[in-house]
Amino acid sequence: MNLLQKLFGSAPAKPEKRYYTFSVKCKRCGEIIEGRVDMDNDLSVEYEEGGDIFHTRKVLMGNGRCFQHVEAVFKFTQARTLIEQQATGGEFVS
Ligand SMILES: [Zn+2]
Repeated sequence: MNLLQKLFGSAPAKPEKRYYTFSVKCKRCGEIIEGRVDMDNDLSVEYEEGGDIFHTRKVLMGNGRCFQHVEAVFKFTQARTLIEQQATGGEFVS
């Protein structure tokens, strides 16, 4: 591995389809924290009337001294379309 590969990593550059990325703003300190959902590994299936629902929960912490956790919950359809999102301890920003 050469130096450039070490600096920038050798992983595929744009895994956009696999990851759902989002940002939340900490309610306590206002820091914007970025997170992502790994659509291949993070989702749990839930059987609901009308079809399967995929859901996941992410707990994020900022880099600052703030100790507030922001919990984000997402629900997706089988086609990986976002149908519901909720944040505790912060709010979603786009
Ligand atoms: Zn904070």
